[in-house]
Amino acid sequence: WSTSTSYDTIVAIATPMGNQQGSIAIVRISGPLAVAVVAKYFNSSKKSTSQRQNRWKPKSHFVELGTIVDDAGLIVDEVLVVPMLAPRSYTKEDVIEIQCHGGDVCVRRILHLCLEGGARLAQPGEFTLRAFLNGRMDLSQAESVAQLITAKSIVAAEAALAALQGGLSSFVQAMRKDCLELLAEMDAHLDFEDDIPPLETADVIERINSLCFRVQDSLKTSNRGRLLQSGMQIAIVGRPNVGKSSLLNAWSQSHRAIVTDIAGTTRDIVEAEVVVGGIPVKLLDTAGIRETDNVVEQMGVQRSEAAALGADVVVMVISACDGWTTGDHHIFHKIFSVKNSECAAGVSVTNFTTPWVLVQNKIDQAAEALVPIPDDVKTHFSKFVPTCAIKGIGLHDLEAAVVELVGLGKACSDGRQWAVNQRQAEQLLRARDALERLKESIKQDLPIDFWTIDLREAVIALGQISGDDVSEEVLSNIFSRFCIGK
Ligand code: GDP
Ligand code: ZN
Repeated sequence: WSTSTSYDTIVAIATPMGNQQGSIAIVRISGPLAVAVVAKYFNSSKKSTSQRQNRWKPKSHFVELGTIVDDAGLIVDEVLVVPMLAPRSYTKEDVIEIQCHGGDVCVRRILHLCLEGGARLAQPGEFTLRAFLNGRMDLSQAESVAQLITAKSIVAAEAALAALQGGLSSFVQAMRKDCLELLAEMDAHLDFEDDIPPLETADVIERINSLCFRVQDSLKTSNRGRLLQSGMQIAIVGRPNVGKSSLLNAWSQSHRAIVTDIAGTTRDIVEAEVVVGGIPVKLLDTAGIRETDNVVEQMGVQRSEAAALGADVVVMVISACDGWTTGDHHIFHKIFSVKNSECAAGVSVTNFTTPWVLVQNKIDQAAEALVPIPDDVKTHFSKFVPTCAIKGIGLHDLEAAVVELVGLGKACSDGRQWAVNQRQAEQLLRARDALERLKESIKQDLPIDFWTIDLREAVIALGQISGDDVSEEVLSNIFSRFCIGK
């Protein structure tokens, strides 16, 4: 991954291969030999054959029609060639895209010719790696390219695009710059203590507080970032006959979703896909088909446990006409303890704990919409939503509650829709911890040497996001997850 690798010429097929046939396929080549390699095989329709060999002079950003001709003089395909010469290209190197006919045959033959002509097969993400190494984009932008390609919803794509356009990177780089300025002042004091006025502690603390606030501000997008990538799972739990299935049906019908029974599994979970806050959500109804056959409550609990374990939000349903029963109490404690032991195992880096929503169903039959809940239980629920599942009442409030609880509506205060990914969140937490330690060192009046240690740590953490301070290991980890040709 060292910069020296960026001096050879790489080639790859940039469009999907295999079963999915497209009418056009693209071979993309980047590097110092890009023009020379293509010139060996490209016969522009603008020129006569005699002028062809190695004389082709591409005009940057002008499309040229022609043919690809192999060494034996056989026409391989009719193509459009798009030259984007350095530095006005994705990689900042000479890039040429050859648009040929779709299907695997033409594109593979052209790829093969480029390889024979002196290019090497690109590794996954290597074009984007070069864009990063050559300063075309920072690391967070490069990561957003992969997120944009794999986005499964419009909202996820919008978030990736906001990051690609520099929303996240300018936010992080501004923080890193402020840290570096502060660090320079501290270093100056260490070197020339006698010649300059002492550091104003109050001023330093204020600047660190501002940094902490901004780190926290960007961190609040992390749960949204996670859900945008992976979608969301909501488990609907509760004892039999409170209306879980009715709720799932009403919810999914309002989205015209298809409800599927996962038959044959011991868990008897019913799934439905809906869209909440713009992202795909899987609803898991833990009700079994046999639950109406007066099955022991214990079975319901086991199924609910399994579903709740993987869920991002747990929706517990009770019947408003029954109030909070001992059965509800039993189920709640059983599932809650399972869920909590999972959190204690440290699954989430961002300290995000699964929110619980209490749905009080059958309000049409209840004297009061919100029944009294014991205080020790009540504190574990973040929202209370009255519903009448059979009439579809309260579903809108339920969705709004979910959107709020998981932070789907949360954007950073710069107003853009980018969201940090898991890796970036880890580094932001590292920066935040370092800044908190720094404040502590200042308050305890420790020597300035100590301050600089923590501040340097924050600079490094932020540099891991922007790519200013990043190891080859991290880079190869990030770019190996790209597809080939990007
Ligand atoms: P589950 O066992 O928790 O999945 O409960 P179901 O969805 O199967 O519902 C149990 C019974 O309660 C069914 O007869 C439903 O028609 C009824 N039910 C569900 N929701 C409501 C509601 O909001 N009001 C009334 N009156 N009945 C409901
Ligand atoms: Zn049911």
